[in-house]
Amino acid sequence: ARTAGPVEVVILGAGVIGLTIARTLLSSSPNAYKIKIVARDMPEDLDSQGFASPWAGANWSPIRSFIERTRKWERETFEKMWELIPQGLAMVLPTRVFFTTNEDLTQLWYKDLVREFRVLDPSEVPSGLKGGIAFKTFSVNPELYLPWLQSELLAHGVEFIRRRVHSLSEAAALAGPNGVLVNATGLGARSLIGVEDTDVYPIRGQTIIVHAPGVKEFVSFPLDAGKTGEATYIIPRPSPPGEVLLGGTFQPDNWDTSLDVDTARGILERCGMLAPQLKDKETRVLRHNVGLRPARKGGPRVEAAWTDVPLKSELLHESGTNVHGRVLLAHAYGFGAAGYQNSWGAAHEVADLIASKLNE
Ligand code: FAD
Repeated sequence: ARTAGPVEVVILGAGVIGLTIARTLLSSSPNAYKIKIVARDMPEDLDSQGFASPWAGANWSPIRSFIERTRKWERETFEKMWELIPQGLAMVLPTRVFFTTNEDLTQLWYKDLVREFRVLDPSEVPSGLKGGIAFKTFSVNPELYLPWLQSELLAHGVEFIRRRVHSLSEAAALAGPNGVLVNATGLGARSLIGVEDTDVYPIRGQTIIVHAPGVKEFVSFPLDAGKTGEATYIIPRPSPPGEVLLGGTFQPDNWDTSLDVDTARGILERCGMLAPQLKDKETRVLRHNVGLRPARKGGPRVEAAWTDVPLKSELLHESGTNVHGRVLLAHAYGFGAAGYQNSWGAAHEVADLIASKLNE
């Protein structure tokens, strides 16, 4: 049985998902949890290709028709992040999205959620495409957003421990018997011993950050991932002023984190056709980026269950004997191209699952 006092929680992973889960646990039940975030890559490691979160666009724009569960997460995240606009953490983003398939664009599930939604007139749609929509959504800059989340957590007493963990039982030992362990390791879930989820795979994304103050709108062409792995999109960011992300690629199962110069040329060329303002002489290339989106066949894994694991740790058991213990193990990984836009809704579901399982 659990002893009185706050429940020990270890969150493995300090990407946008782990951080948002920590923030949500704290606000859903103040004083109920004592949280440690254990991770190899920390929010300040904004140039680490060891995790996905620094490399995101990051805007809110549904990519495909998702199942009801992810729609709920996206809906909740939209509402939460829209509230961050006055703080400068997110910015209103006028958006145009084009489609290659014939679908009833008047019935898209998010038409009443985003602001000022309208279906584009055929005269506004480039030839060869089947239709388009315009609406207002938001973008965030991970380089500001991740440190902001971290500062919120530090202010609430969350402890950050930099450590590469090899196995689920090593992480469970840090939580202790009857504690909570949240696995928010992104691509790490593929190799973490005890999880070893072979459905997890990378989707390589190469992008370019430019200074282009004339570009004010998000424009996205349909993904052509099946054929060439190319995706064309332009995401202005809240700050620094004039910063814009140009994308990109969408290359499943490609683990290569090195820069491909031909790909970069192609991105500049395709984005230049979409946004002629990029040809302004003020435009400067600031950085080339490559990040791996942590995807999972079948979609994100979000679930929680009491689990028996060997609690293996020199710290807990100096004799070195392994003991079995029960931890409440929650998984939250596999968000692929949509980790930011799912984050608050998915974190809410994880927090609800944890609260209800603790009461079992
Ligand atoms: P990660 O950010 O990968 O974090 C994983 C964490 O687990 C890290 O702290 C890591 O160190 C830790 N970890 C893993 N294994 C271990 C271990 N064994 N021991 C200790 N720690 C471990 N999403 C959007 O919503 N909108 C966008 O516009 C968008 N654009 C994107 C563009 C690009 C180019 C890319 C690459 C991604 C984009 N994404 C976007 C996707 C988004 O970045 C990811 O879905 C999200 O960052 C995933 O977050 P995460 O916390 O699950 O994983």
